[in-house]
Amino acid sequence: MKIKFLGTGGGRFTTISQQRMTGGFRIDDINGQNYHFDPGPGALVRTYQFGLNPIDIDGIFVSHSHTDHYNDCEIMIEAMTKGMTKEKGIIIGSGSVFEGFQQWGPCISKYHQSKSKNIILSANKTQKIGNMNIKGTKTLHGDPTGVGFQLEHENIKISYISDTLYFDDLWKYHESADILIGNIIRPKDEHIRGHMTGNNFIQVINQVKPQIAIMTHFSLKRKDENPEIEANRIKKETGTNTIAAFDGMELEINKKSPKDSKVTILKDKCINNKNNKIRAMNIFKKDNYKQTTINQKFNSNSNKSFSPSVEKSKKYK
Ligand SMILES: [Zn+2]
Ligand SMILES: [Zn+2]
Repeated sequence: MKIKFLGTGGGRFTTISQQRMTGGFRIDDINGQNYHFDPGPGALVRTYQFGLNPIDIDGIFVSHSHTDHYNDCEIMIEAMTKGMTKEKGIIIGSGSVFEGFQQWGPCISKYHQSKSKNIILSANKTQKIGNMNIKGTKTLHGDPTGVGFQLEHENIKISYISDTLYFDDLWKYHESADILIGNIIRPKDEHIRGHMTGNNFIQVINQVKPQIAIMTHFSLKRKDENPEIEANRIKKETGTNTIAAFDGMELEINKKSPKDSKVTILKDKCINNKNNKIRAMNIFKKDNYKQTTINQKFNSNSNKSFSPSVEKSKKYK
């Protein structure tokens, strides 16, 4: 079982600027099934960027009707159902996502709802999918129907708090989670309406006592800050291993001992952008440009073939 982050940005300005990606995250290989959570803008493209296949997802979870959480939902449904040619998969989300509520949603057209099982979750409502239990968790956020999710499979509980203001009994919805994922938009006590701060996360971690806590959904304001510093602070205060997720992070869950889960990095297939930057730079340095060009061993079948030129051209910086 692996959690794969295709975006760790959140809030409208991070989303518009893509200072951090906003593709949501996947939990792959829960009993052989793969699920995509909150496929925000770029979810489809990031899926390919990190070497994954959108066709092999079996379900999509959408916590609420904010663009950074639902934008790519319909195209991911098209991928899941092989271009709407197959009855496949489940779509799980808040009431607004399917039916609309006040000014929120609907986020998925009736057409896109038509090939998959649709499940509306609300706080404490549960659903069994195969041998996985899913529970809706309460949120206090702009979309009044918004939810978080708790998944239980083979004694492992993963809780995704999603966007919410902190409230006193928040922890009860995420009780006994082994892995707790929080959308922590700002550090310390830098409050922003409808969202949790780093200090709020400390409170929830102390109450839930997960084996691993993961922060994601960082705001633009934090781009000069290092969320890892905040994660370390939270780790020290709570004694719980707290991780600041990054775009392309993978957590390989150790089922026997979740606290010993392993963080790895998904291979970024767009890494060639670096080469483009070097090429652009070299246009203004004619001698180096020639040198770099000579050193390139171009092979149209392999992206990796560019890397020797990257190594070489670093010397010319
Ligand atoms: Zn959000
Ligand atoms: Zn939101």
